[in-house]
Amino acid sequence: MGDGFQVIVDLDADETDAEGLARRVLEWLVAEGIVFAERTRCVPGQPLGHPPGPHWERAVTDDWDFAPQDGLAVHTRRTGFTSGADMPGAARCPLCHAPTPLDDTDDGAAWQRFSTAMRTWYDTGAASVDCPACATAVPVPDWTWDEAPLAFGRLGFEFWNWPELTDDFRARVSALLDGHRTTYLWGGY
Ligand SMILES: [Zn+2]
Repeated sequence: MGDGFQVIVDLDADETDAEGLARRVLEWLVAEGIVFAERTRCVPGQPLGHPPGPHWERAVTDDWDFAPQDGLAVHTRRTGFTSGADMPGAARCPLCHAPTPLDDTDDGAAWQRFSTAMRTWYDTGAASVDCPACATAVPVPDWTWDEAPLAFGRLGFEFWNWPELTDDFRARVSALLDGHRTTYLWGGY
């Protein structure tokens, strides 16, 4: 079995509120006993994370068949979250819903435009791509992605090798985020 993760991404947090919201959610998770406050080496690919607490099962579905193997990584820097090694087959415009294929049908030109914008978003926190169908300049985080979802955010709660998080748990985390939009990605390597 490889490593699997689930991440709740806040799409609206910025440099002014990401740290404070991360602290608020973490305090709640610790109070619930879902993770421990102290950090250890318990997350693949990250120096430190919060290991599962005594009541981790409060976060997961009833039919779990394994205990969490690793911990929670809290991201408070700009991060492009992916669901694994695969890239999306298409980007979908949030306004006109037209898909822009990201395969090599156009010699990869569309993918080139998107990946350049993703890099700019990562470097500066703002970038958009013009939708070929409706000509709107759509910010990178607002696109949706077919096949292999992506999420761009300044705040993410990434659980490594946990059973499936419940809808209720994800809603309770989102409720602590000042009404921000959130998205949920899962995947593995
Ligand atoms: Zn469009």
